[in-house]
Amino acid sequence: MDNIKVRYGPSPTGIPHIGNIRTALFNFLFAKSKNGQFFLRIEDTDQARIVPGAVEKIQQSLKLLGLLYDGEIIYQSKRLDIYQKHLEILKEKKLAYLDDGAWRFKINASDPKIGWQDLVHGQVEFPTNVLEDFIIIKSDGFPTYHFASVVDDHLMEISHVLRGDEWISSTPKHLLLYDAFDWKAPEFAHLPPILGPDHKKLSKRDGAKSVMEYINEGYLPEALINFMVLLGWSPKGDQEIFSLDQLCSEFSLERINKNSPVFNLEKLDWFNGQWIRKIYEEDNHHLKKLVQDKTGFSDILADKIIESTYTRVKKINDFSDYQYLIKQPKIDRNLLMFHDDAIDVLRSALRLLSNLKVVKDETIRSVYKKLDEDYSNWSMTEIIQLIGRSISGRKYFLPLLDMANIIGNKLSDRLENAIEQAEKQK
Ligand code: GLU
Repeated sequence: MDNIKVRYGPSPTGIPHIGNIRTALFNFLFAKSKNGQFFLRIEDTDQARIVPGAVEKIQQSLKLLGLLYDGEIIYQSKRLDIYQKHLEILKEKKLAYLDDGAWRFKINASDPKIGWQDLVHGQVEFPTNVLEDFIIIKSDGFPTYHFASVVDDHLMEISHVLRGDEWISSTPKHLLLYDAFDWKAPEFAHLPPILGPDHKKLSKRDGAKSVMEYINEGYLPEALINFMVLLGWSPKGDQEIFSLDQLCSEFSLERINKNSPVFNLEKLDWFNGQWIRKIYEEDNHHLKKLVQDKTGFSDILADKIIESTYTRVKKINDFSDYQYLIKQPKIDRNLLMFHDDAIDVLRSALRLLSNLKVVKDETIRSVYKKLDEDYSNWSMTEIIQLIGRSISGRKYFLPLLDMANIIGNKLSDRLENAIEQAEKQK
């Protein structure tokens, strides 16, 4: 197919969340997979609903993900004369009439049904007798969505309209407008909405947040793209990790599912972890820069922490949680006082650990075991927690052996420090 042209047509009524941006992604990928063009059209004809700054947020979201559009942005609000001209054409054909201040399109469908071959849903049909004459130009002179989008899709030579399912019931109106102008309608692909884990509309709580919010939280653009594309599209084989470049060649409309995908934040975390590893292996310098931008770590600190933890972290921000591996942490006595004799247990732990010739799994286990025997009021879990918290200053920490490997012989210093600080806070 030649001359593939698609557009992403957001209304600037707020900051787009990643569900909205998935529509842009699918349009972009489809265009690129066919050597076509991807345009950005701002559908700002409903003046009352415009939110200042929304266009910039839309642009920023696309840019952060690398979804570059062709040509200039098209603003519908700057094309009122074009819609007026097209109103005149319909007026001449007696297909538009003035009603109470607004211009309406006169429906004169000859068939009892109107339908199209949707590229996602297959044949879709609606009875024509449920359609009523609808407004095309409002009393404020602005066109309605239906009118502006049909006129623009035609003038922009849009070959494929990929948009959310919520527009399916508007498509018959659009088809009648194409007929009225004697224009060929584009192909349509209506994308099923992303649902929340409760199978209801995706809410902010479920993850309907903007690209910028995700990136601030430490998610990578690569992971967001990878995650978003699989919300509705399925690849041929069982490969799960795709770069934008790979998707540009692999993407196809045939593999968009009819059923609504369900948003799963854990899956996004998984993708992000995978991408952190991939970037570490392919371009450690880039990862280091991302980590330093987020955490302000020095070169040495960043290198050490990334190397010892990159397989564990889910988000770039998580790297800052590992500062304790390098710096003696502050100890909060309350974190340690499982029982009144916590300091005694720590003293014994210090003695046992300092006596160890080699720190390895078995010897660490023998220390835990000994403490568990000597202090019967403590459970094994409490003992493990006490020692881990004393070394890290945190409720969540790496396994003792991993910490020991990074902290090395300073392990005893850490315990001494914890005892000292906890005693001071008595
Ligand atoms: N302005 C519509 C929206 O915000 C776009 C619909 C379309 O792509 O035709 O969803």
